[in-house]
Amino acid sequence: MTKSESELTSKDIEIGAIVTEPGSARQYQTGTWRSERPVVDFSKCIKCGLCYVFCPEGCIAEREDGYFTADLYYCKGCGICAEECPTDAITMVEEEE
Ligand code: SF4
Ligand code: SF4
Repeated sequence: MTKSESELTSKDIEIGAIVTEPGSARQYQTGTWRSERPVVDFSKCIKCGLCYVFCPEGCIAEREDGYFTADLYYCKGCGICAEECPTDAITMVEEEE
């Protein structure tokens, strides 16, 4: 059984920081790595879902109103969604310290 993030110590990290337990990524708050976050201008969004398709983290989900938003708990701020959005509805905004 994988330990929760709060229970991990440096001794639990594998040499080379490799992942040895498949499907364990959901347990880790990868959003803390982020230096920029995606911000959506919904007035420009055409609800095409391309940001959802291209997000390598799988952290964008469709809302009930048909718009798409990123789960910032997991978003690493790579900016691919902003790059792929056909209407430039997504802007990457620097995180504050
Ligand atoms: S890619 Fe852009 S236009 Fe398409 S759903 Fe995402 S934010 Fe909206
Ligand atoms: S910035 Fe990267 S990780 Fe975050 S929602 Fe966009 S594509 Fe996904």
